[in-house]
Amino acid sequence: MARRPRRLKNKHPQLQERMEKLLNSPLHELASELKQLTKFKHEQIIEYVSKLLERLPEEFDRRFYFDAWMIQSIVQSWSNDLTPNSRMIIPTHYNEWGYEPPSILTNPTVNTSFAVSFIHIPSEVTEIPSLLDYPWLCHELGHHLFSMPKHKQMLFDKFHSHVEELISKLKIMSISDHGLAKIRSQATIDEINTKWRDSKWVEELAIDVIALWTCGPAYLAAFQDEHEQVEDPFIIELTHPPVELRTYALLHAARKLGWHKYLKELEQIQKDWYRRVPSSIGNQYRLLHNHELVTQCVDAALAYCKSSRIPRLKLEDLNKMRLNLQRENDFSEGIELIVAAWLVYHENEECYDDWEEQTFNKLADEIMRNSVK
Ligand SMILES: [Zn+2]
Repeated sequence: MARRPRRLKNKHPQLQERMEKLLNSPLHELASELKQLTKFKHEQIIEYVSKLLERLPEEFDRRFYFDAWMIQSIVQSWSNDLTPNSRMIIPTHYNEWGYEPPSILTNPTVNTSFAVSFIHIPSEVTEIPSLLDYPWLCHELGHHLFSMPKHKQMLFDKFHSHVEELISKLKIMSISDHGLAKIRSQATIDEINTKWRDSKWVEELAIDVIALWTCGPAYLAAFQDEHEQVEDPFIIELTHPPVELRTYALLHAARKLGWHKYLKELEQIQKDWYRRVPSSIGNQYRLLHNHELVTQCVDAALAYCKSSRIPRLKLEDLNKMRLNLQRENDFSEGIELIVAAWLVYHENEECYDDWEEQTFNKLADEIMRNSVK
C-alpha cells in the first residue's frame, strides 16, 4: 500500500516534462487537455496519462505531421454534431492499416470522460507516403465513426429489421419441417443470424460504402489493389466478410452511386471468383451470399452516409479536380488529395511518382510551417 503513492509522486514531474514537450508538437491540443487532466493528481488519471504518453512519439517527423493533418482534415470534412474531436485520433505506424478503438478514461470523481484512439498506418522505408493507399485511411476512420453507439444505431436499426424480416420468413417456411429438414432449416437461421447480425460483417461492408461514398473510384482502385491477388476470397470468419462477398457488395454500391465507368476490372474479378466457390463450402457460401441482405446492407449504409451528412464525391467533382491539377492549385483537404492522387495515376501514370513526391514535400512543409506556434 505504501509503494503506490510514492511511485505516483515520482512519476508526476516526469509527466509534466513530457507534456511540456508535447505542447510544442503536432499533438499540442491533446497535450493541453492531458495537462488539464493531470492537475487533478488522481491516481487513475496519472496512470492513464502515463500509459498514453508511452504510446506517443517523442520525435515528430514530416510523415507524422502529414498523417495527423490527413486525419484531421478528413474527420473535419465529415464533421457534424455526432463526430467527436478529430485531434484525439493519433496516427501510429504499423505494418498494415488498422483502427484501435478508443482507450477511454471515465472518472466520475473529477467528472471527466476522455478517449484517444489510434489509426495504424503502414510505414514505408521511404518517408514519402503512398497516396494511392490512403483511401484506406477513410476506411479506418469509418471504424472510428462506428466506435460511437449513436452512429452504430443509425446503421443497425434500419438493417436489423430486414434481417429479422428474413428470419421470420424462413421460420414460417420451415414450420412444417420435421427431423433432418427441421435441423437444416434451424441451422440456416442460425448461420444468417451469426454472420449478418452478430458479427462484424455489416460494419465492414458499411465502412467500405463510406470510403466509396467519400472517395469514389480512388477507393475502388485501392480495394482492388489490396485484394485482387488474395489466395482465398471465400474465407468465412466473423471479423470480415469473405473478400468475394465484400467485392460484390462494394460493386453494388458503386453502381448505385454512378461509378459504372470504373468497374469493369473489379466486376470481372468478382465474377471469376464467384464461379470458383469451392464445392466443400458451396451451400453455406451461397446461403450467406444473400442478394437481398447485401442490397439492404448497402442501402442502410448509403442512408447512413446521407443522414450523417458525409460529403459525397460525385462524377462531376472529378472534372473540378482535373482543372485544379492543371492549374497546380494547392491542396486544402485530405480527401481532395487522395482523389487527385488516383486521378493522376489513372490518367497520367508515368508522371505519378514525381507528382507524388513533389506534392507531399510541398504539402508537408506547409503543414509544418503552419503548425509552428
Ligand atoms: Zn475494416
